[in-house]
Amino acid sequence: MPASSHTASTLGLILGDQLDASYPEALGLDRRRDRLLMVEVGRASERPASHVQRTVLFLSAMRHHAATLRDDGWDVDYVHLTDPDNTQGFHGEIQRAVVRHKPEEIAVLRPGSHALRGELQSACGKAGVELRVEEDPHFLSSVDEFNEWASGRKQLTMEYFYRTMRRRYDVLVDRDGEPEGGQWNLDKQNRQTFKSPPSAPSPATFDPDEITKQVMDEVRKALPDLPGELDSFAWPVTREQATRAMGSFLQHRLADFGTYQDAMWGGERSLFHSYLSTSLNLKLLRPMEVIESAVRAYEQGRAPLNSVEGFVRQVLGWREFIRGVYFHEGPGYEGRNGLGHTGTLPEFYWTGETDMACMADALGGVVEHSYGHHIERLMVYGNFALIAGIDPGAVHEWYLGMFADGIDWVTAPNTIGMALHADGGVVGTKPYAASGKYIKRMSNHCKGCRYDVNARTGENACPFNVLYWDFLMRHEGRFSSNNRMAMILKNLERMKPAEKAQITKDGKAIRDRFGIACPPHSGA
Ligand code: SF4
Repeated sequence: MPASSHTASTLGLILGDQLDASYPEALGLDRRRDRLLMVEVGRASERPASHVQRTVLFLSAMRHHAATLRDDGWDVDYVHLTDPDNTQGFHGEIQRAVVRHKPEEIAVLRPGSHALRGELQSACGKAGVELRVEEDPHFLSSVDEFNEWASGRKQLTMEYFYRTMRRRYDVLVDRDGEPEGGQWNLDKQNRQTFKSPPSAPSPATFDPDEITKQVMDEVRKALPDLPGELDSFAWPVTREQATRAMGSFLQHRLADFGTYQDAMWGGERSLFHSYLSTSLNLKLLRPMEVIESAVRAYEQGRAPLNSVEGFVRQVLGWREFIRGVYFHEGPGYEGRNGLGHTGTLPEFYWTGETDMACMADALGGVVEHSYGHHIERLMVYGNFALIAGIDPGAVHEWYLGMFADGIDWVTAPNTIGMALHADGGVVGTKPYAASGKYIKRMSNHCKGCRYDVNARTGENACPFNVLYWDFLMRHEGRFSSNNRMAMILKNLERMKPAEKAQITKDGKAIRDRFGIACPPHSGA
């Protein structure tokens, strides 16, 4: 039934990442007739294990949002984490809510997870009530629009999708539909490194208010085993705070965002990154308001084109693209394992305690703040998981749970597709595998590391070097028909057999030492 034409009494389910105040109207609901249901599902924090800051962020933002909806005249039935009957998640709560309210249907905007949609369908089936699912108007490309764009293409290339979106929304294009500045992508200007400690202004931070403090107490008691640290919690939990966080980024960090977007520096967490992904993914911010504000900064001379274009590409291009891929590929995407990797995720992913300086720093940031910027996600711990041969399912669950902005639609294509090349080449035509050289070039980590970034064999050789060459050897047969890998494999051909044998031996020793128990499939 279309959202605009239904007349039955409806229970509108507002999920934890659907905190836009206009959503009840998007579901076609009427304050005088319909009710809203919000449920805190503790189990969602335990399987997979969710960082304690991520859990607190979701629950606090939900409670603040429920108050906003009530102020706006909505009748909100809110089920707390600590409600003694709230033990079976949506299955139990939908059943109980149907008994309480006797709705003729339950309506929800498209959930950002295939598994959750299945769970809601099954819960409604058991409760004997129809589930109506509407499109989520937050996104700038609907699932149908993305599928239409993807139809008939041999390869889903983000760059072409991004150009389509720039033209469609008239963002940084001239009257002829050509890109502002003459080029669609200014990435070549965006690979600068820091020569000395950077002085990037910090993102806006928000002290926990009474609601957040209450959530913290309840989470500590009800879910005491969640990973990560809580002390540094400073995430925006309301739309008003999210808007201030956006203003702070635009004013203080956008101008240098592009130039240093791939750079890293030990102990420096935020650099010039936006820190807006939690607010966008909870729907406290809308993508077009963020894009338009960034473009305005360029037009008013407050930020250069390379930074604004790079930022617009993240929000209008990449974010919409990977959501499109998630729904285009359908259920089961997160279970793909195209390279046959079966290694165990090492303990240091949960603690940050490792003697690799780059991994200790980047993973320490995740444990402390439930966050890491995109280059750490892709080229440090993502790259390590790829070249070490770790099971993509375990890596995906780690990303999904440990990052404050983690939701299945965003995490699965970024992890399974982009970082681990496990989706059979849907997101990327070649793996983002790199040796320690990349980290040396883009950061200061190697200077303080106990490993030698210039060595690729021996006890002190950088593990990224050993595992990188080991990865290429294990998958040489698979990649030999990939033109984009030809240059890299030529380097491998030039390597002497004795060195290759030593790398294989050292690679196994590293995996044993780090507890990556199962040797990865040869893939050759
Ligand atoms: Fe990381 Fe290797 Fe550099 Fe150490 S030497 S910081 S392990 S890249």
